[in-house]
Amino acid sequence: MPQSREEKLAKKREYNKTYIKKKKYGNRTSKQRAKDNWTQRGVDMTNFDEVYDLYINTHKCDLCDKIFENSYERVLEHNHTTGEVRNIVCRKCNTHKEDVSIRSDNKTGYKYIMKVKGKYKQGFYYRFEIKRDGKTFTKTRQTLEEIIVIRDKYLENNKDLYK
Ligand SMILES: [Zn+2]
Repeated sequence: MPQSREEKLAKKREYNKTYIKKKKYGNRTSKQRAKDNWTQRGVDMTNFDEVYDLYINTHKCDLCDKIFENSYERVLEHNHTTGEVRNIVCRKCNTHKEDVSIRSDNKTGYKYIMKVKGKYKQGFYYRFEIKRDGKTFTKTRQTLEEIIVIRDKYLENNKDLYK
C-alpha cells in the first residue's frame, strides 16, 4: 500500500528520534545513565539502588510540590561537600538551592528546624531537615510557625521511625 506524505514524514521523524537518542546514549539504560551522571557530579552512591528507586517514583518536587512534567524536570539534589543525597527537586529549586547557605546562628531551638538564607527568597526562611532511608527529607517555609506545623505532621505520620 503506498504511503501518504504524512505517513512517510512521521516514519522519518520517528527514525530520527531513535537514531539521535541512540547516538547520544548508546545502549545504556536510563538507570545506568543516572548512575554515570550522579557519579560524575559527586553524589554519594552508597545506596544507589534505593535512591534511584525513590528518584524514579518521585513525581513532584520535594521543596515546592511542583509536579514533574517530564524526567528532565526531576533533579537529584545533593550536598556538594559530602555528596549526601538530600532531595528530589525540580530544576528551578535545584538552581536556587546553589545559593542557599546555612548561617552560624541557625539554631532555632526547635529540633530538626534551622534558619537558612537564600537569594531567591527575601531574607531568611526556615528549613525542616530530617534523615530517612539514607536520604535527607527537607521542606522550607517562610515562617517558623509554618515549618513547625509541617515538622509535627511529618513526625506524627512517621512515629515509628523517630522515637
Ligand atoms: Zn521545586
